[in-house]
Amino acid sequence: MRFLPVFLDLQAGSILLVGGGELVRAKLRLLLSAGAHIRWHATDGRHDVTGLDAVDAARIERAEGDPRTADLSGVIAILCAGAGDIGPAMSSRAKALGLPVNVMDDLQHSTFIFPAIVDRGDVVVAVGTGGASPVVARRVRERIEAVLPARIGDLASFIGRRRKAMHGRIPEFALRRRFWERIVDGPIGALVLAGRGDEAEAALKHIADPSAFAGAPAGRAEGRVTLVGAGPGDPDLLTVKALRALQDADVIFYDELVAPEILDRARRDAARVPVGRRVGKPGIGQDAINRLLIDAAKSGQRAVRLKGGDPFIFGRGGEEIEALRKADVAYSVIPGITAGLGAAAQSEVPLTFRNEALRITFLTAHKARDAETVDWSTLTDVKMTVVVYMGMTAAPSIRAGLLAAGRSPQTPVGVFARATRPDSQAVAGTLNELPALVQRIDSGPAILVIGDVVAHSTPWRDAGLDSLLSNFLVAAE
Ligand code: SAH
Repeated sequence: MRFLPVFLDLQAGSILLVGGGELVRAKLRLLLSAGAHIRWHATDGRHDVTGLDAVDAARIERAEGDPRTADLSGVIAILCAGAGDIGPAMSSRAKALGLPVNVMDDLQHSTFIFPAIVDRGDVVVAVGTGGASPVVARRVRERIEAVLPARIGDLASFIGRRRKAMHGRIPEFALRRRFWERIVDGPIGALVLAGRGDEAEAALKHIADPSAFAGAPAGRAEGRVTLVGAGPGDPDLLTVKALRALQDADVIFYDELVAPEILDRARRDAARVPVGRRVGKPGIGQDAINRLLIDAAKSGQRAVRLKGGDPFIFGRGGEEIEALRKADVAYSVIPGITAGLGAAAQSEVPLTFRNEALRITFLTAHKARDAETVDWSTLTDVKMTVVVYMGMTAAPSIRAGLLAAGRSPQTPVGVFARATRPDSQAVAGTLNELPALVQRIDSGPAILVIGDVVAHSTPWRDAGLDSLLSNFLVAAE
């Protein structure tokens, strides 16, 4: 490591900036947004501030004359655009005075370099490659951006504002550190990260004895449950938040729908507990699952309840949070991409389409018996796309119900199995053929989409059904 990342106090003096052009303007923007005092020698004499905010630009001290002989009092660092001999000259001057200097794109004459920066208020991450590759540094920065909670800076300042006061209340260093760890890792930290600063403040005030709170046996205060939508299968369809929850979990209770590739993204030492129906075996039941979640949280664990798709779409998430609320367990919900949306995106079914489809209904028809209880007359609108979850076995009843209610037998339908997974399968045809289409599916899970928009889909186009449909239309005329 040749360059050690350190943080420069911009209040300590001015940054001397030498040069002009777009590169220099980019640095001006950076320094202005960081609140720096800037003294600028524009070597072309023009001080061109095109593209900078006018109020910001007015904060720049515009220096005239030759920077090689200019007065450097009050300067804490020098930044110089590289062209010509001015860079090396400024570099020698800076070195003689012991001032840090950066000559852009010129490592040889620089004693410091700019990192790629993740800026979240009080939390700042600097990424460097020792000048080897700014592009690689930027890619690393993007990855860090993706995993850092948006409000991590708020959390730092929330604690920063209270650290001094807590110093008096918990004199012992190790205990104090433990206290803040518990705040950061526990529900109070979660509240700040969720933008609920006032509630976090109230909860913090509620801690009557901070030392006891810090010293309490692990658990109690920290346990919580996060309901996480795992999406339809492709692990890259996890949300950034879901990924964070998985990496933060002590224990994960997952459904049979959750693909192993998704569990692979979880913290390595998190316990994994399957609670769904297994092939040939019934699940443990909703009450037992609720019990497991409550017990895990009450024993101080960060439990994740991982569900296929979205927790609130035919996922019984509503029942689980009701139970958690009753048991006074802290919880939060992270949405996921529901199977219908995953399948539609993959197979190019625009669920709404100009004037063709103006409404969507998500419904479930688990068994023929369920399908019989559906009021199909509400689903005959030709401008409505109907997405059916768990509808495979009930396919004949769904067809019968819709036809009896008056939906056209020529309505396009798609059956999408294992959508977004590597072994996905999609078939399309007409409502009339629905039971036969379902027969062509090798294995589940699968979803049905019924509506004219299915005629835009890949399986429909692949099967050359376009001409089929127009034949039908011609025949109908
Ligand atoms: N909460 C889930 C749905 C659970 S119900 C969600 O939002 O997606 C289970 C049903 O979801 C399955 O019977 C099937 O109809 C559908 N499903 C789940 N994953 C699927 C996938 N990858 N492809 C197609 N259908 C899927």
